[in-house]
Amino acid sequence: MPLQLVRAQVVKASTKFRSRLRKSLAVMAALATAAAPIASQAQGISTLRDAEIEAWLEDYSRPIFTAAGLNPKSIEIIIVNDPTFNAFAGGRYMGVNSGLFTFAKTPNEIEGVIAHEAGHLAGNHGARSAEAMANAGTPMLLGLLLAGAAIAAGAPEAGIGLLGLGQNIAIKDYLVYSRSQEATADQSSITYLNRLGKSTKGAMDIWSRMRNYQIITGQRVNPFLQSHPLANERFSALQTRAMESPYFNVQDSPEEIHRLHLIQAKIKGFLHDPLQTLRDYPLSDQSDPAHYARAVAYYRHSEIEKALKEIRKLTAEHPDNPYFNELEGQILFEYGRTNESIAPHRKTVELLPDNPLMRINLARSLIASNEPDLIAEATIHLKRAVAKEKDNGFAWYELARAYAEQGETAKADLATAESRFQSGAHPDANHFARRALPGLERGTAEWRQAMDIILATQPAEGAPPLPSAQPAPQPLPSPEERQPQEKKTPDVPDPIVIDSN
Ligand SMILES: [Zn+2]
Repeated sequence: MPLQLVRAQVVKASTKFRSRLRKSLAVMAALATAAAPIASQAQGISTLRDAEIEAWLEDYSRPIFTAAGLNPKSIEIIIVNDPTFNAFAGGRYMGVNSGLFTFAKTPNEIEGVIAHEAGHLAGNHGARSAEAMANAGTPMLLGLLLAGAAIAAGAPEAGIGLLGLGQNIAIKDYLVYSRSQEATADQSSITYLNRLGKSTKGAMDIWSRMRNYQIITGQRVNPFLQSHPLANERFSALQTRAMESPYFNVQDSPEEIHRLHLIQAKIKGFLHDPLQTLRDYPLSDQSDPAHYARAVAYYRHSEIEKALKEIRKLTAEHPDNPYFNELEGQILFEYGRTNESIAPHRKTVELLPDNPLMRINLARSLIASNEPDLIAEATIHLKRAVAKEKDNGFAWYELARAYAEQGETAKADLATAESRFQSGAHPDANHFARRALPGLERGTAEWRQAMDIILATQPAEGAPPLPSAQPAPQPLPSPEERQPQEKKTPDVPDPIVIDSN
């Protein structure tokens, strides 16, 4: 059974990546602190990759960005793993905390926040921040994106991909807007929602609750309010405009509310303490979100049979929901029932053929099968995935494994080179690309890819030579070196401690 070794490898690879990244980010963090004196509380940031949440954000943001005159394709959305309510925008990025989803009561409330952030982007309010980022922060933001991409869905440690990114990476500190910019963003947000015929009530409600929250929590500064100061006069102006809207009373449909409830259930399941989740969703609750939340909580609490029972209730009732199938596949895979995990993962690819994260999940299950035909199939899925997300280091890493299993050494080296490159490990990338080159046919796309990596990672003239790839990347194990699987419980993330102050 390859599972354990494979898992260990993946974990090791990501740990290594993490430490590499942390080194470069430590420098950024120092700069950040120097540039922005507000940067105070030490805070680790990690990003999430999850197909369901990403699809939700895409669906809701795209029309708003368009209404704001922005090109939705040019804006990268980052999901930050943080239980507090926060959102930020600057340059070509918009970030939202997972806490935004759990704080919001309706999809329309989140739309209000997205529209506000779109107002900052459209007003180019981040310009000063963008300049600061150009000096110090761009690599930091890119780092966040890379991390998200590198780990991909069905990430080794968690269902939702998690990757720690060191400390003091306080993006928000780059994005402190002036009062007039805040007021403008509010007004713009109402304009965009009106253009779309969407209610402005959610915007009003969520800001209003945020204000009360601020009062209740007293001294403790909410991170969102830190970057988006919410003065009384600002709120009254927003309220007045919002209430004038002809669409004020437009309601979210029950389907839209249900969809948000599923996402909230998933986030709580993965990011809150499992026992707390089981209390929040008691067995008496037989709704879909409750089954969903309990499936994840049991899975994280190592109660696999209960987890399967909950998720299979959902997949039986909604066989065409890709995310229910994805979770069933993930539970099976992480508990070593890799062959059984193929069917649900295959189903997700049928349902969402364009989604690279689904193909990566399926490929991992196929590789674990040890069957040559299935490993060959995995290669196809992974090639489709990296065609869609060229910077997905985790997909390249899995592709390297698939090639290695098939004895395609040069292609495995090339995929490893790309994976290391995407992780920012340039000496490793250079080393593997050079090693791949002699085995690739001159002039082919792969040969050019190897050359590109070598050139991109070559030290400038006069610079000290690249260090040799140290520590040596782990060689891929041959089948006979594999160890039997011992572990029955998956590595799931420690529960995030929710600060109740
Ligand atoms: Zn703002």
